[in-house]
Amino acid sequence: MDTDVKINGKVKKSSIKLTGFSVEDIGDDHLCTGLETPMKPDAFELSNEEKKERIAILFEEIMDVMGLDLTDDSLKGTPQRVAKMYIDEIFSGLHPDNKPKVALFDNKYQYNQMLVEKDITFYSNCEHHFVPIIGKAHVAYVSSGKVIGLSKLNRIVQYYAKRPQVQERLTNQIAMELKTILETEDVAVIIDAKHLCVSSRGVKDDTSVTVTSFYSGVFKNAQKVAELQNYIKQ
Ligand SMILES: [Zn+2]
Repeated sequence: MDTDVKINGKVKKSSIKLTGFSVEDIGDDHLCTGLETPMKPDAFELSNEEKKERIAILFEEIMDVMGLDLTDDSLKGTPQRVAKMYIDEIFSGLHPDNKPKVALFDNKYQYNQMLVEKDITFYSNCEHHFVPIIGKAHVAYVSSGKVIGLSKLNRIVQYYAKRPQVQERLTNQIAMELKTILETEDVAVIIDAKHLCVSSRGVKDDTSVTVTSFYSGVFKNAQKVAELQNYIKQ
């Protein structure tokens, strides 16, 4: 259905077709549908500037519906701030243009053991509630003859974190990207994260963390995994 929304006495047309879907259908369950972030085929038809304009209007609607006074000095800039933050910062990883450019180098040092980049702090957002997921990613690989700059491992984690996410998909997306870039199956990713939708609302468990992992190639070997976990613990 189409919806018209009144904000500050002005009628604004919403172009969004609502599905009529009810959260009661699935409750509060965290579902993950696939490796790819579900995107519409026309996801990039609007420019970033057009998206920000549109989001600002829609966020203003949300605030208005909640009864907030958008003429208040403290609130009036919020819709634009949220729109800019969504597109330029916390959801910037939805746009393929923001994918880190990674150069491969020859493994001149002949280092052929695992390389672990651990404790990569990231901030993501749960795609079911749009509240933060705060965590640490640990990534490891064994060079197939090629290496990448260490900061690129961090940047790959940040790129996929800056999307509406579920932790399982985030883990797998980082792993698949590393496998592709590094041209190796020998990749591992471990993520431990706190989900604010679990701690600040819902079940309100402030102490639980969620741990996910991806192991392929040599990391399917239990001894290698033990070695990796030892590195992470240090
Ligand atoms: Zn959630």
